[in-house]
Amino acid sequence: MSRIFLSPPDLRPEDHAAVAAALASNWVAPVGPELALFEAAVCERVGMSHAVALNSGTAALHLALTLLGVRQGDLVLCPSLTFAASSNPVRYCGAEPVFIDSEPRTWNMDPARLKEAIEVLSGEGRKPKAVIVVHLYGQCAEMDAILNVCKMHGIPLVEDAAEALGASYRGKAAGSFGLYSFFSFNGNKIITSSGGGMLLGNDGVEIARALHLATQAREPAAHYEHKDIGYNYRMSNVLAALGRSQLADLERRIAVRRGHFESYRDELGDLPGLRMMPVSNAGSPNYWLSCLTLDPAETSVTPDSVLHALAAEDIEARPLWKPLHLQPVFEGCRRFGGDVSESLFARGLCLPSGSNLDESGRKRICDRIRACF
Ligand SMILES: *Cc1c(COP(=O)(O)O)cnc(C)c1O
Repeated sequence: MSRIFLSPPDLRPEDHAAVAAALASNWVAPVGPELALFEAAVCERVGMSHAVALNSGTAALHLALTLLGVRQGDLVLCPSLTFAASSNPVRYCGAEPVFIDSEPRTWNMDPARLKEAIEVLSGEGRKPKAVIVVHLYGQCAEMDAILNVCKMHGIPLVEDAAEALGASYRGKAAGSFGLYSFFSFNGNKIITSSGGGMLLGNDGVEIARALHLATQAREPAAHYEHKDIGYNYRMSNVLAALGRSQLADLERRIAVRRGHFESYRDELGDLPGLRMMPVSNAGSPNYWLSCLTLDPAETSVTPDSVLHALAAEDIEARPLWKPLHLQPVFEGCRRFGGDVSESLFARGLCLPSGSNLDESGRKRICDRIRACF
């Protein structure tokens, strides 16, 4: 029996052909026509006007914060329950992250806690410079309330849609809400360019500035004049071809992942204390990862014991993200709330969810989980 990974790449012959064509065109040095085509395709899918393809989602967030002028001494609000990459770029800018707890309905940033944080910090004369919202595991945050709070206080919103390509909220695509937004095409995401990301926005001048910063901030002179500190953050043409061919397959990928979520729910939902991640009726997730919680009041089976039982059968599962306010590297950072994200971390588990996971693999997983009870 082969190992079952959490969310491995899923490449079809079309993807191999797309990379081969990019190589055959010799546009590998490293830019080329696939970049603009990939950017245009993502813009069209999401409904944003401008994009720049980059070598990671993390780089995209760093550039978004740079465009917003985030620097030393600034405060940036960010959910606690997320991957460290949602917050590391705040530190790259020399600024301080402030962590906001989750709400239980979507596990994302709690708009009430966000409002409280902005009011308290503004009252201290330290109005936050930006808010980063994350759509965890492919389900959108409560965007109406979050946008309202940001608008009321005039604070720009950056959307970390790294996990949420193809998801939507009240019919509007994830990645279309922020002043800037970004996706990740890292190896475990719903489409992958091996590694990569994309920054999107509606202001063409600002996105052009991001491109300039991402390509070593070279001024148009034969000797390369430099007026800014630049970065080497651009995606390569070969990888853009790989990303673009998978984007054309996005609907199938979402449907397969949604099928996993529904099967897990149908096959495991009767087990005591086991609940799938709640799905809000305001949105349509991309079901990137199927997550569940185990309620200790109803079962003695712990996420850890399920994790180990699965690992013994060569099946990869993972805890939910460890809240950033509990991470040693962010010790001492301010936070607003924390009980909800801590309790989710203690009770939660992510199950294998790849779009190349088949029914027999899923049955192996469900049988093993059932045997724990
Ligand atoms: C994957 C991920 C990122 C970072 O994207 P990379 O392309 O790996 O740099 C950021 N935020 C979240 C929530 C992610 O899951």
